[in-house]
Amino acid sequence: MNVHELTAYDLREKVLNGEASAEGAAWDALDRIEARDGEVRAYLTVDREGALRQGMEIDRRVRQGERPGALAGVPVAVKDVLCTKGLRTTCASKILHNFIPPYDATCVARIRAAGGVIVGKTNCDEFAMGSSTENSGFFPTRNPHDLERVPGGSSGGSAAAVAAGEAFAALGTDTGGSIRQPASFCGVVGLKPTYGRVSRYGLVAYACSLDQAGPMTKDVRDAALLLSVIAGRDAQDSTSADVPAEDYVGVLARGVEGLRVGIPREYFAEGLDPEVKAAVMAAAGVLERAGATLHDVSLPVAGHPEYAISAYYIIAMAEASANLARFDGVKYGHRAEGAGDLLEMYCKTRSEGFGEEVKRRIMLGTYALSAGYYDAYYLKAQKVRTLIRRDFEQAAEACDLILSPVAPTPAFRVGEKRSDPLQMYLSDIYTVAINLAGIPGISVPCGRSASGLPIGAQILGRPFEEALVLRAAYVVEQGIGGDAHAR
Ligand code: GLN
Repeated sequence: MNVHELTAYDLREKVLNGEASAEGAAWDALDRIEARDGEVRAYLTVDREGALRQGMEIDRRVRQGERPGALAGVPVAVKDVLCTKGLRTTCASKILHNFIPPYDATCVARIRAAGGVIVGKTNCDEFAMGSSTENSGFFPTRNPHDLERVPGGSSGGSAAAVAAGEAFAALGTDTGGSIRQPASFCGVVGLKPTYGRVSRYGLVAYACSLDQAGPMTKDVRDAALLLSVIAGRDAQDSTSADVPAEDYVGVLARGVEGLRVGIPREYFAEGLDPEVKAAVMAAAGVLERAGATLHDVSLPVAGHPEYAISAYYIIAMAEASANLARFDGVKYGHRAEGAGDLLEMYCKTRSEGFGEEVKRRIMLGTYALSAGYYDAYYLKAQKVRTLIRRDFEQAAEACDLILSPVAPTPAFRVGEKRSDPLQMYLSDIYTVAINLAGIPGISVPCGRSASGLPIGAQILGRPFEEALVLRAAYVVEQGIGGDAHAR
């Protein structure tokens, strides 16, 4: 077996018992990047020297009899909205093309502390705004399963890197689906933790009340492994919850016997591609055969695009317009040349630095927050958000987990939705409400379309019940078999 086919978990075992070297694994990832990334373009920055140096250091510690941690020697790719000390962090935006953070995001620091090796920074939609990675300020990423198709977004680079074997695991971020949807499109596993489960310190903010970082991996066990490493309270992020990380790998095999799985009828209605529906229902069948019971549930507000999509985009854009005010050419990043005064400098810097979609969102968000429109848009959206949260609370009384599609279709073609932002927004219909409610959700491969494109199933849980979500995803993965997985 080639090293790059190992899971992160298996590689870690081999590094710890001396059957594989961390430096060798770093070389392997770098070789794969060399071979595949010319076409896939998953990475914005590859840290060749850094990866090899970190790998050698892990090997040295293993030779000295140390156990460097749960991710010893595992090459990990990091979405470029997460700060990496000394390594360029652009958010896929020209406005940060030259930004080198002086610190690591907490989740990155935890990966390093567990012996993980950061190979590089992955492409994404600019400031994580998008669903296809076509909004990157640099170049689009391609889906390794079909180069004519998008990898999804915004964490498309992370998903593509894992699917193409260019990293053993990756970190993504999810504000409205950006971990789960690209995971689904690329045939990998992606977990969005409960809001507050993983520290947001060092995650460049898109929408603070929605953003969460999480694992994107080859299989469910790897997602469990990474979550155990990155989860838990961080004094640097006051919204991080004081709920200790669990041994998520240890509970995986407990199965789903006796668990109630809700099937939200609104998520299987009009607009869902029949192949996606069949694949997700196959996952339901697997859960049922493993002893779970299936229940029809309703998400009357969360399940309707006119409420969920509208509320999400108003809140996300409002928060984005405030968060992006800091990029002004004064403190860091790009600064326009030749401005006559301060205002002109702000103006030119932001005009040159931000791409079209980011500008659109700053304008819409500013509008929604402005006096006179605040009540009609932002306040209304917050009320809808409360109703959406209630939908999930009510569903949680009737069932332990919810099963749904991740996206209405498999990966779409490059360019297909680019010129129509509304169509692009609508493709987030099954993911955005989950962030508004703050609950955990995973995308796990559950089949393929007739043309061979991966399809993911989404499994949702109650707040902080990631363990249950992972257990169910593990059952689906085992039941569906290797065929659904990335190779
Ligand atoms: N596609 C959604 C958006 O553009 C979600 C993005 C995300 O989760 N970062 O806002």
